[in-house]
Amino acid sequence: MPELPEVETTRLKIEPYLLGQRLLRLEHDASHRYQNTHLASGRTVTRLSRRGKYLLLNLEDPGQDSLELIVHLGMTGGFRFAATPHTRVTMHIEDAEPLYFQDARRFGKMAVVQPGVYPGMPTLSGMGPEPLGETFSERAFVRAVAGGGRMIKPWLLSQVPVAGVGNIYADESLWAAKVHPAQTRLKPAEVRRLYEAIRTTMQAAVEAGGSTLSDGSYQQPDGLSGSFQTRHNVYDRAGQPCNRCGSEIVKIVLAQRGTHFCPKCQTLKLRP
Ligand SMILES: [Zn+2]
Repeated sequence: MPELPEVETTRLKIEPYLLGQRLLRLEHDASHRYQNTHLASGRTVTRLSRRGKYLLLNLEDPGQDSLELIVHLGMTGGFRFAATPHTRVTMHIEDAEPLYFQDARRFGKMAVVQPGVYPGMPTLSGMGPEPLGETFSERAFVRAVAGGGRMIKPWLLSQVPVAGVGNIYADESLWAAKVHPAQTRLKPAEVRRLYEAIRTTMQAAVEAGGSTLSDGSYQQPDGLSGSFQTRHNVYDRAGQPCNRCGSEIVKIVLAQRGTHFCPKCQTLKLRP
């Protein structure tokens, strides 16, 4: 599933293509998945931003209130500059070739809303700070995470303490911070390591264009793969040696998610 680095890479690639362009029509046949997209017709894209794993396009029409197109890529969604067998939405643009949204498994969603109004979208409305933004403070993160009784990995995946961390980058960040994914009651020093690990991992993954896994579902809009998968230390590496200590990486299921870690570097500490 695309996480912050993949969504940010997508944003960076489609921004030069869409910015300042007038949308003619969003063509699709699934109004329950792509909601109120008729409101985008005739509007100009004035900004492309991102919150966590969501793309946000500002849509303006002179004399009208601003609108926002929210895009969630789901499991397999992504924009392409050319049509594919799994094209679900065709964005017709006034002065350019169409932009295509493809989504083999159809978990992706779009909706046109009033900017910042996210009813029925608790993940987006309750989302924590951007890990690469200036509002992500170490002190606030320590306060949100240290000492709590929740297991750290599911708490990260909730998007509440920090935005945009999904299964891959949670596993990678926890390995880098030497914290067990099921750890509870983290000490402030562990949370500070995790804070640094999340920032460093996310930054490197954005620079690498994200991670394209063996299923190949994530590609950049121009068809390029990401390259961060070659730098994974734990994700999808079960049975291979830890890059730090040589122990075998293991995979478990934690809160229904496949979870990879090094049993020697990331020991579970019992803290009643
Ligand atoms: Zn290790």
